[in-house]
Amino acid sequence: MKIKESSSFCIAISSIFGATTIDKKNLSHIGFTVKSITTIWKMKKKREIDKKISNFESFIKRNLLKCNKMMERFMTTHAKWMASKITIIVDENCKTPKKMGRPTLHYTNAGTRLKRKLASDLAIDNNNNTNLLMHAAAVSAKKERKTDVAFVLTKTIRTPEYPTESKKHLQLQKPIPLSPDEALAYLLENSLNKQQYTNTRLLNKRHNCDIYPSYNKVMEAKLQCRPKCIEVMETTARVPLQNLLDHTAHRIIKLQSDVFKQFPDASEIKLICSYGFDGSTGHSIYKQKFLTEIPGSQLSDHSLFVTSVIPIQITDTYHRNIWTNRTPQSIRFCRPLKIDLLKETTAHIIIEKKDLDFQINTLKPFVYKLVENVDIVVTYEMHMTLIDGKVLSVLTGTKSTQCCPICGVTPTKVLEITDFSSETFTPKLGANISVVPNVPYDS
Ligand SMILES: [Zn+2]
Repeated sequence: MKIKESSSFCIAISSIFGATTIDKKNLSHIGFTVKSITTIWKMKKKREIDKKISNFESFIKRNLLKCNKMMERFMTTHAKWMASKITIIVDENCKTPKKMGRPTLHYTNAGTRLKRKLASDLAIDNNNNTNLLMHAAAVSAKKERKTDVAFVLTKTIRTPEYPTESKKHLQLQKPIPLSPDEALAYLLENSLNKQQYTNTRLLNKRHNCDIYPSYNKVMEAKLQCRPKCIEVMETTARVPLQNLLDHTAHRIIKLQSDVFKQFPDASEIKLICSYGFDGSTGHSIYKQKFLTEIPGSQLSDHSLFVTSVIPIQITDTYHRNIWTNRTPQSIRFCRPLKIDLLKETTAHIIIEKKDLDFQINTLKPFVYKLVENVDIVVTYEMHMTLIDGKVLSVLTGTKSTQCCPICGVTPTKVLEITDFSSETFTPKLGANISVVPNVPYDS
């Protein structure tokens, strides 16, 4: 227990005990330690030291009185207190006087500009040595237990190709935006309404994945799917066959542009289609009055008569296959030509067949402009295969369902016949049966 030279301290103590009773010797006898007290004085840590002294003074004043100012008694009573130490830690950092002006900010609390400046200063101090700085960063990351950061930095230092590879990898993972057609397909596939689609789009946008085009663009794409001159009346909706086929050819060629690049000599192509009609009954009758009136017949929404066309294949003059419908029975490729609120009667079937025959006979080739000075001429080949047995019987004029609708042979004749290659089995005229295999359209 050493006490260095400290006059004020001695004066303070002697003022309590009296100059005669207490001197340096006595002080050392009390036994407490003051670390580098002279230095503290120099450091002007006055307030802290003053407080400690005042506490010391008040304790002695208070308790010495209680001991009737008898030193011996005081020392025995407060032996524990006497044995303890007063420690004043001198902060080395306080040696320099406080700086004037704005306080310097640490990197973590600094703004973007200051952060950049601090980093730049550090880089300049190290002669912009990237490897050294990265190494330093890796070391400090390890110390901070940021293992992932340390791993990436170490990997970057060791393998120079790593940054390029990881950049490529990150770019590959970028979300791919949907085209309006793809978005339309998604919308129709999931039967989404406008609100549902918009909500999905906004949610994706909020999560930094803006892949859906705006609803207006999707609607524009939807309009592109519509053939021209659609007529909608109270009981009929129809589109001219020429327009429907031209539109179909246009859309398929647009989709198959890559194939046309492979076959630059395919300037004349043929679109093979299947068509037909059928009726269905048993639909709900709604209490709606029809404005149009047809004399002799009762209009009703009970029955429906639909004529449709399905594109089957596209071939060129060299019999090369440009496009094939892989799902000919799918509703996706079924293109309605005419929808009537009518009952499927013999008369109506014949009228419809005549109308279709007329439209097919007056079909004109369609010219598609692939690129500048390159035209593709599309001709159509129609096959009536989308029909059921009833329609076939009506069209071939077979009155009995027992008879063969194609050759008209009766069951009795089949039993009697011995020569199966006889003319009895030749197809009747008008039985326009196609070679394209297809299941009859049946609703
Ligand atoms: Zn037959």
